[in-house]
Amino acid sequence: MTSRVLPLPVEELLEAIAAEITFCPRCRLSKTRKKAVPGAGGAQSRVMLVGEGPRRNEDLEGKPFVGQAGRFLDALLTEAGLTRKQVFICNLVRCRPPENRDPLPDEIEACTPYLNRQIALIKPKVIVSLGKHSTAYMLSKARLRFNSIVRARGKFYEIRLWGMQITIFPTFHPAAALYNGKCRDRLVEDFRLLGKELVRIGIVEQ
Ligand code: URA
Repeated sequence: MTSRVLPLPVEELLEAIAAEITFCPRCRLSKTRKKAVPGAGGAQSRVMLVGEGPRRNEDLEGKPFVGQAGRFLDALLTEAGLTRKQVFICNLVRCRPPENRDPLPDEIEACTPYLNRQIALIKPKVIVSLGKHSTAYMLSKARLRFNSIVRARGKFYEIRLWGMQITIFPTFHPAAALYNGKCRDRLVEDFRLLGKELVRIGIVEQ
């Protein structure tokens, strides 16, 4: 009798990645974290959002964007005609950088294989990169030059990644906008534009 090995469903593979992240020892951030934050959302999500890294509340809860920036992100998703249930939200690095400092290049290098694997499984149509670090990373995957988030934001970059056609949409990080009204207005503008594009490509109903 021959036995056939059936591939695991995407949900199970995503859960396996989340379990790996929970106990990940790959970089120094694992020594100071309370909880790693694997990401949240369904395997069927057509839209992925990639933040920078967990902050205090996310580190305590093990979930992405649960603090003040998260509440603002929810309002932004509404502007785009989306809810949290429809998107997969994760971060460039999955453990909190101490004092909310920027993630270091070696930490990004150690952690992004998780992001790459999640993207390869979910196969999103659109990735919204929140802030300069995740934008620099996503554009570098397509060998696109990144100078500044101010210049890159609010534009749609069509890239090919691991055989998939993906649209990268960079915008400011919601946390940066909390104390900066101009940045806040631009973010709202960007998410409205995103919403229009999602209607155009049939991801969101008008
Ligand atoms: N900022 C991020 O980049 N990610 C979070 O999960 C929360 C705040």
